Amino acid sequence: MTLKLGQWNAICDVCGFKLKSGKMRKRWDNMYVCDDDWEPRHPLDFVRTPPDKERPLPWTRPEPYPVYVEVVEGDIIIEE
Ligand SMILES: [Zn+2]
Repeated sequence: MTLKLGQWNAICDVCGFKLKSGKMRKRWDNMYVCDDDWEPRHPLDFVRTPPDKERPLPWTRPEPYPVYVEVVEGDIIIEE
């Protein structure tokens, strides 16, 4: 082990091992990790679906309006 100026001891954010700062890298989630714990960001994190306006639905079934029932002295009156 040789002395390298400008490096310091650091702890890996994942495994907790102590390494020199030159052996660690910053990961996509802002964690400083060793080479064993470094991983690229998953490609599906960059997949975006187009907004709904650009791909309208072929058909829909909207929820019907609610029917309120009012009960007055035992009689049932249906209001629409
Ligand atoms: Zn590690």
